[in-house]
Amino acid sequence: MLYGALEAGGTKMVCAIGDETGKIYEQISVPTKTPEDTMPAIIDYFKDKDIRALGIGCFGPIDVDKASPSYGHILRTPKLPWIDFDMVGTMKKALGVPVGFDTDVDGSLLGEVTWGAAKGLSDALYITIGTGVGGGILSGGKVVHGMMHPELGHMKLVKHESDTYEGKCPYHGTCLEGLAAGPAIEARWGKPAKELVDNAEVWELESFYIAQALANLILTLSPKKIILGGGVMHQLQLFPLIRKKVLKELNGYLVTKELDDIDSYIIPAGCNDDQGILGAIKLAMDAEADV
Ligand code: ADP
Ligand code: ZN
Repeated sequence: MLYGALEAGGTKMVCAIGDETGKIYEQISVPTKTPEDTMPAIIDYFKDKDIRALGIGCFGPIDVDKASPSYGHILRTPKLPWIDFDMVGTMKKALGVPVGFDTDVDGSLLGEVTWGAAKGLSDALYITIGTGVGGGILSGGKVVHGMMHPELGHMKLVKHESDTYEGKCPYHGTCLEGLAAGPAIEARWGKPAKELVDNAEVWELESFYIAQALANLILTLSPKKIILGGGVMHQLQLFPLIRKKVLKELNGYLVTKELDDIDSYIIPAGCNDDQGILGAIKLAMDAEADV
């Protein structure tokens, strides 16, 4: 059975066709410009593919409340041409199939829980550290939405005493995203993160902020696994630094078998960077089952 998957990102839209086993058959990428420029190419791609349903993991903020009049719309995003764009309605009308819709990070979380590093778990956390910081929370087997959807990248953090950078988030300055996303690293150190591989100080500070946020999240949500993805987490040397600092932050307060084996508790994504597309396939499968 074929399903369509759309990973709608701020810079590119990845469209793919997959099946219920998590196999991806083909994919293309379309640059994200305006809805008028971008959507026709996406619709064209899916139109003759004989898909049973479409799943969309979308950049946010978005309306994921099915009871809301603006369900399926993009909300107040910094990507101005997309404000209030009706993503679900547009695709439903164009393709005539059920459409599943969630945030890009909830999509990645679903991909990891269905086919990847958190397979089968009921409580897990997926966090991406890239151009921004976002996270998806699975709690008691359900993706947490609540009032809107979590925006854990904007939790305020305590600054490291050596850090003089004012923070990049226009709303909060020194939130996790403002201190630790790729653009914050570049602004603080004057070079893109990729070119700072040999500067140990960069990764010490980066892991300090990520670990502080993870300790807060562990204490709040009690996840059974934490998966870290996104461009910045391609720096795998961050993992041991983060694990060590998380334990230091928690300071022995929690005693669990997961924390005893922290090397398998805080881990990289397990889907070869396909977690977003795989999650969108799962969203499509769930949308079909919902009808
Ligand atoms: P997006 O968040 O836009 O979907 P990414 O997850 O690739 O895309 O994140 C892009 C950010 O991650 C950029 O700020 C970039 O500097 C940083 N980045 C990308 N690749 C790497 C890498 N290998 N090492 C460190 N940082 C990276
Ligand atoms: Zn913020």
